[in-house]
Amino acid sequence: MSFDDFKLHPSLGRAIKALNFEQPTPIQEKTIPLAMAGHDVLGCAQTGSGKTLAFVLPMLHHMLNNHRNGLRGLVLVPTRELAAQVAETVREAGRFTRYKAAVVIGGVNINPQKKAVTAAQILVATPGRLLDHLRQRSFRLRQVEQLVIDEADRMFDMGFLPDVRALILQVNHARQTHLFSATLNPEVRRIADFALRDPRRVDIPNPGGVAEGISMTLYPVRQKQKADFLLQLLKSGRMRSVLVFTRTKHRANKLAQDLAKNKYRVGVLHSNRSQNQRTIAMDAFRRKEIQVLVATDIAARGIDVEKISHVVNFDVPLVPGDYIHRVGRTARARGVGEALTLMDQSEEKLIKSIECLVKCSFPRRKLDGFKYAGNSPAPVVKTNRPTAQALARQRRILRADRGERAGKKNPHDAAKNPWQRRSAKRRRAEKRKPAGDRL
Ligand code: AMP
Repeated sequence: MSFDDFKLHPSLGRAIKALNFEQPTPIQEKTIPLAMAGHDVLGCAQTGSGKTLAFVLPMLHHMLNNHRNGLRGLVLVPTRELAAQVAETVREAGRFTRYKAAVVIGGVNINPQKKAVTAAQILVATPGRLLDHLRQRSFRLRQVEQLVIDEADRMFDMGFLPDVRALILQVNHARQTHLFSATLNPEVRRIADFALRDPRRVDIPNPGGVAEGISMTLYPVRQKQKADFLLQLLKSGRMRSVLVFTRTKHRANKLAQDLAKNKYRVGVLHSNRSQNQRTIAMDAFRRKEIQVLVATDIAARGIDVEKISHVVNFDVPLVPGDYIHRVGRTARARGVGEALTLMDQSEEKLIKSIECLVKCSFPRRKLDGFKYAGNSPAPVVKTNRPTAQALARQRRILRADRGERAGKKNPHDAAKNPWQRRSAKRRRAEKRKPAGDRL
């Protein structure tokens, strides 16, 4: 199948040629005809599948065939980085049209956004800031006739679904709506039922899977040695553009410092960084001015950077689905890439759930030349049953992890001194913040 078969407006055909896209990706092949025929679409697709263009092309096609002024398309996304990328896709696909995209995201001055929205026909927004604008009556969404809810599962993870629901109610009732999500949990289904009318469902063949071009390896290594281990990996010289995921903002900062001390060009991306810092880090990474970008899950969601050679899971993700999102940052658009996971013994259970999800078991490797701590090297293949002591330790760590995520006080953080008491209190306060604030 070729893009010509869609019979898109000629100016879109020109843009696709200019982008050098020869053939639609599977999600585009299925979604574009349905959307052009006026159906609502429920798409199960992950980033990297080409889903942005799958909704941007029909949106522009519809606008080109039904000229009208004002704000006509709205794309809701969970993160600021993804907003910038979707807007860029609109600009690229719409370069031979008069339609413009505006971006509305938090963390930057609200006032210039009002002006930008007045001049735009398509708005790409994160939910919180868009609600702020509506409360201030900067503009209205009544004229919006094309609505896209992108990465709905991540909207749920970040606690945005109530905001999304409020926003849907503000959009023209006679609209066309598409919802995309990598996974369909009950909450996403509920919002899909609320937003979509008689939707056509589109599943790409392997929605929970990992792109074919990604080779995945597991390196068992003790927690305390992970930074040294990563440094040793980087020494190989093969890792040209590396995205490293840590579980927390604190660990991201600490690791970035360690790498910088060793003269690596490194950037950090997490929600405590200002929008300006995040943009600078992303741009430098994109231009390959920095070799390593250390990020937390939510900040890195949807990052579309060409030629990321390696994704490193410095910490194994607590949510198995996050593994798919993380490794999907490499091997974009049918490319190749490597995903390396550093696994402490305490993370073995998490790896099992991930292997279950991606339906394969990762090859376990030892790194030649690395001095593993202790008497025994890292367990390459586990043959012995873990001792009762090790199991108890693993359970304790998992409990502590879970407690920390849920913001619960756990016995291992127990307030033995005032400093620890304060930190337990702070964690409880964290619970009240949405996930985005933690990551
Ligand atoms: P997305 O899943 O929308 O984030 O897209 C992932 C990447 O695929 C982006 O860099 C797009 O520019 C690229 N892409 C989208 N459609 C195609 C296509 N038909 N052929 C080649 N690359 C594409």
